[in-house]
Amino acid sequence: MEMAQKIIGLIDSERARLDEISREIWDFAEIGGKEFKSSALLMDELERRGFSVKRGLAGKFPDTGEACGMPTAFKAEYGTGDGPAVGLMLEYDALPNGHSCGHNLIATAGLGAAVALRTILDELHGRVVAMGTPAEEGGAPGKTEILHAGHFDGLDAVIMAHPSDRWNADSRFLSIVEPKNGGIVFRGQAAHASGEPERGRSALDGVLVFCNGIEFLREHILDGGRLHYTITSGGEAPNIVPDFAKVNIFVRSEYPAEMERMRKRVTDIAKGAALITDTTYELEWAFPWHAPVKAPAFYALVRECAGAAGVSGDEFLDYNSFGSTDAGNVGLEFPLVHLDFKIAPLGTNWHSVESREASRSKEGTDGMIKAAKTMALSLHRLITEPALLKKIKDDFDAGKKRQ
Ligand SMILES: [Zn+2]
Repeated sequence: MEMAQKIIGLIDSERARLDEISREIWDFAEIGGKEFKSSALLMDELERRGFSVKRGLAGKFPDTGEACGMPTAFKAEYGTGDGPAVGLMLEYDALPNGHSCGHNLIATAGLGAAVALRTILDELHGRVVAMGTPAEEGGAPGKTEILHAGHFDGLDAVIMAHPSDRWNADSRFLSIVEPKNGGIVFRGQAAHASGEPERGRSALDGVLVFCNGIEFLREHILDGGRLHYTITSGGEAPNIVPDFAKVNIFVRSEYPAEMERMRKRVTDIAKGAALITDTTYELEWAFPWHAPVKAPAFYALVRECAGAAGVSGDEFLDYNSFGSTDAGNVGLEFPLVHLDFKIAPLGTNWHSVESREASRSKEGTDGMIKAAKTMALSLHRLITEPALLKKIKDDFDAGKKRQ
């Protein structure tokens, strides 16, 4: 308990500095893979606080195994190797409309927790890793590539905190997979659509039959699955039989195995659509982002620690619908909590002007500080309570078998 009070006091004493860094990152508003100033600011700060910092990481593409340079990723470590090792994930990428997802606050919540743990670790056996994970919003390699290059190896548990319109620790996400190269291409034969239609084969027909097939599939998937598509190219003029058409589709499910079943059916539908329309199709799937393994014991610990950080139980609310994140792939390998913390009124649209302004508001800082405390308190307990850590790892292993 004494140590908990110390952690809370340490993070309170860092409020002004964390706020300053968060606002600087907000002002930089650098998009995925281009977060040079934001990551440098965080790396400099962590180095100044005694962390050993690997600046820029070599990642690895999970599907090809090829190496990829990740200049804006980093790994900051502190502590000894003879105790539990816990990880924090820091995001700092913006969207084209600025920090409308509030990743500036993810960075400083993680930084605050890391700095507090670093201060108390001298009296303990354990290690904390603050992983700088770029490009969550896409556009460049991110957590999956860091994971597959082995930079997370040896960690016992991982946590991060994301701003939201509510508190939530259930880390419920959907697995997602999408085609590479922006979609599925259908190719046919161009011809005069009136003069000699019999000589044409319509790539757009291929796409339309494909979309119909998806609508029939929709009835035969598990609840909560998602299939959403858009036609990105459908020909040039009505009097030309289109020889090229393209459709993009995202396939999502709460269950990785169900997502795989859906992916197979979607591939078959593309095949069938090409056969029906005498066209050809090109489809290569990207590496999926998976839903993390459910880890209820870890979620319960985090909710308990949020209470100690001043968040009342009734501030934790469920979601009705879910997105996907590259943090899920980390949560497939390690017990993970993706903690959502409240910075804006319930019902605020995300990726909007409102969420962007909330990400540099006083409410934003208040939520970020509580999230930093919650994460530091949770990780401190994992470092100091071997039985609790074992319970969380056993719970995770059981969850993984169920998936
Ligand atoms: Zn986000």
